[in-house]
Amino acid sequence: MSFIDIHDLSVTYKGKNRTSPALAGISLSIERGETCIVTGPSGCGKSTLLKVLADILQDYRGEVLIDGTAPDAHRHNTALIQQSYGLLPWKTVKQNIALGASIKDIGWDNALYERTMSALAIADIGHKYPGELSGGQRQRAAIARAVMQKPCMLLMDEPFSALDAMTSANSRKLIYHMLKDRQTNDMTTVMVTHNIDEAVYMGNRIVVLAGSPGRLFRTFSNSFAGCDDDSPERRELISHITATIKHSADEETLQTAL
Ligand code: ADP
Repeated sequence: MSFIDIHDLSVTYKGKNRTSPALAGISLSIERGETCIVTGPSGCGKSTLLKVLADILQDYRGEVLIDGTAPDAHRHNTALIQQSYGLLPWKTVKQNIALGASIKDIGWDNALYERTMSALAIADIGHKYPGELSGGQRQRAAIARAVMQKPCMLLMDEPFSALDAMTSANSRKLIYHMLKDRQTNDMTTVMVTHNIDEAVYMGNRIVVLAGSPGRLFRTFSNSFAGCDDDSPERRELISHITATIKHSADEETLQTAL
């Protein structure tokens, strides 16, 4: 049995007057300690998949098992980094981070706090309130809060998208090395991104969803995780995945046009 086992997962959002199918027939297994990247065109259900794993969305069809049981954020010690960051505006960055750790019953690790804040280039904002920060600083504070929870399952929805190129590269390096260190502690990660260079840096496996509702279109295994050299092989994989996503989007457009 894998750490995450998804079998024939379908999700339909139900509104007052209409329903919106978001995912259809997704089957996917993710091993303990693996970093699985989910990518694909906008609207193909990537965030919906994360919400199911995070136990935010319970209305689905099919079977989703995490370590043998249905998603349960507390039991599975899940940390979710959402695009909206989810920081409490009336608490400072440090208080937000400490609260995240205390909710999970994780003792305060000041050395990890200082290391994380300085790797994310936000060592000087611990005393500030979220309203005083730029979008990029808020996103990094949310990453720091997740890191300090020492999660077993880390779910990230476009965690680096608001960062400038340099900070994004530093942040993904920090998270990659943290995941690698923690692999002995069996942390499993699912990350959504549109950035294929980032996907190839971070993931052992890259899953492409496509269509509306989203289906599993292709899966790539990746031997270039953690490596940011510019080898022709790495570039070829990036172009191949990019072309696959474009092809999936073209196919979808064609099907709706017919
Ligand atoms: P992605 O993350 O790939 O952009 P989402 O999972 O956000 O895709 O959305 C998948 C589909 O579900 C889209 O068609 C979107 O409009 C729809 N959707 C997402 N959230 C809701 C919601 N709360 N209510 C209704 N429809 C939704």
